[in-house]
Amino acid sequence: TPVIGVLALQGDVREHLIALAAADAIAREVRRPEELADVDALVIPGGESTTMSKLALLFGLMDPIRARVRAGMPVYGTCAGMIMLADKILDGRDDQETVGGIDMTVRRNAFGRQNESFESGIAFDGLGEEPVHGVFIRAPWVEEVGAGVQVLAELPAADGPDSRIVAVRQGNLLATSFHPELTGDHRVHEYFVRMVESAGR
Ligand code: GLN
Repeated sequence: TPVIGVLALQGDVREHLIALAAADAIAREVRRPEELADVDALVIPGGESTTMSKLALLFGLMDPIRARVRAGMPVYGTCAGMIMLADKILDGRDDQETVGGIDMTVRRNAFGRQNESFESGIAFDGLGEEPVHGVFIRAPWVEEVGAGVQVLAELPAADGPDSRIVAVRQGNLLATSFHPELTGDHRVHEYFVRMVESAGR
């Protein structure tokens, strides 16, 4: 059974611990570098990416997480966690650092202010016919992806023919704009647990 940490500096940590346990992983909080060393994989929760980034630097976790990512550790980021996994961000704070690892540009708060929160059914590649219930809270979208990035889900734009990328995977890294941990549907967490199992350690 894989041991999956949830970065517990800020954000909706508890919901991820519950969803991971429901997906048959052993889930625990990660707050210190020693705790990171003990997990097979990591979830970066939703919350506020500017704060999370600051705390990760303060707690000495930023570089150790980057090193594990380079070494192939699977990581799943939701919302603020997606921002943390982006190589490039737009509308971030000037001094906002990310872990990086996914060759993509993510725009913070992209879904806009009047739409601060909404829900939508999403076709998710690899999770069957039944749409995933997406909860979007001041959510980012993916504005650009590199050639190595697999787009797993898109949402039709509210104001035109475009669609917005809301779920991606590159190698062992997975990111969604939305929060499956806030629903009773654990298929995205199960998908991540399968990624962790096939990554081995
Ligand atoms: N808007 C937040 C940020 O920029 C993300 C919101 C969320 O995680 N629900 O970090």
